[in-house]
Amino acid sequence: MKRERFQGLLRKNWVVSFLTIFLITGSALPLCITGISIEEKTGMTDLIISLDNPTKFDILKPKKYRMVIEIPNCSRNSTIPDEIEGCGVITSVDIFEEGRKIYIGVNLNKGATRFKAYNKKEPPLIILTIYGTRIEKEPEIDNGGSDVYHNPNPDHNLIVDTVVIDPGHGGRFTGARGCSGSLEKHLTLDISKRLKRLLEENLGMNVYMTRETDCHVFLRDRTGLANKTKADLFISVHCNAFKDPKAHGTETFFLSESRTDLERAVALRENQDFIDELKDAPEGMQDFLTTILASLTQNEFLEESSELAELVQTALIKRLGLRDRGVKQAPFYVLVGAYMPAILVEVAFMSNPTEEKLLLDPDFQEKAAYAIYEGVVEFKKRQEKRLGIN
Ligand SMILES: [Zn+2]
Repeated sequence: MKRERFQGLLRKNWVVSFLTIFLITGSALPLCITGISIEEKTGMTDLIISLDNPTKFDILKPKKYRMVIEIPNCSRNSTIPDEIEGCGVITSVDIFEEGRKIYIGVNLNKGATRFKAYNKKEPPLIILTIYGTRIEKEPEIDNGGSDVYHNPNPDHNLIVDTVVIDPGHGGRFTGARGCSGSLEKHLTLDISKRLKRLLEENLGMNVYMTRETDCHVFLRDRTGLANKTKADLFISVHCNAFKDPKAHGTETFFLSESRTDLERAVALRENQDFIDELKDAPEGMQDFLTTILASLTQNEFLEESSELAELVQTALIKRLGLRDRGVKQAPFYVLVGAYMPAILVEVAFMSNPTEEKLLLDPDFQEKAAYAIYEGVVEFKKRQEKRLGIN
């Protein structure tokens, strides 16, 4: 009996050492690139690298209009040339080896705005998506205001480390009025300040606020700040109101066409500042704002915005325990110019007496801020996984 057990142990050890050897050699096994292709789509161009095994990769500090993908411990199939002609916003691709690494240089057209890189396991692929539309010629006059809706920084990667928080309304635009007379602009600022502290202290993020006091900020300047600071996320904080005081609960929006009358109603109310601003604006400005609306740059970030909205909404419901009104979509002007994933949170209803009391309670405000923070943490984690970090 004893001997059998001993042999069993030996066998187990043997299996363990075999596995160890396999894992060591497995991880050191050189990779091979089996194909590289470029696909042009509407508003974006994909570079697709096929491999014989899944792998991690790095994107080296890309220069303006050039980025380099580094794949360690890798070689290439003899069919892969040194240079590939581009299409879309990729002008050309060059491939070279150094040491045991493969470098894939991607030269970009000036129409390139932003990129996303991720890997797939089955089949093993590295996909680099470059957003933007090919510009055939240099534009003759540089439109000074264009960076409000056009990301000025094509080198921007997608690691989430900069966030813009937008406390809804401010100054003469008070937002909704609660049933006891509280004003939305104060509540949104209180919650936003708490969110800022959490993101800075716990995640070491760069956090910008569109306003830190009770002042009026034009809606276009709110996303303008987000673009200027190259923010990775834009979070607009609001409190809801409805003519029926029984309406209650939490909802989170991302920018899109509204699908229902309820979504339209919230958008109409939150867009009122913009409609008022537009009335005061000089004619040139009106054209400019209309152009921004028409360009709907958020389309490129729909997927990420809806994912962020989903994560924040889930955390809010878990922490606050209010009615889950769900993730919704509507055309909010404040989100239109944002060149990044952007959401608008309606924490609770000020027009509902019970929820207004909660909104005025500092503990509740802290919980709401913490929930939004948790949503950001989860989004950041997922994004890093997609980028092959960690
Ligand atoms: Zn609001």
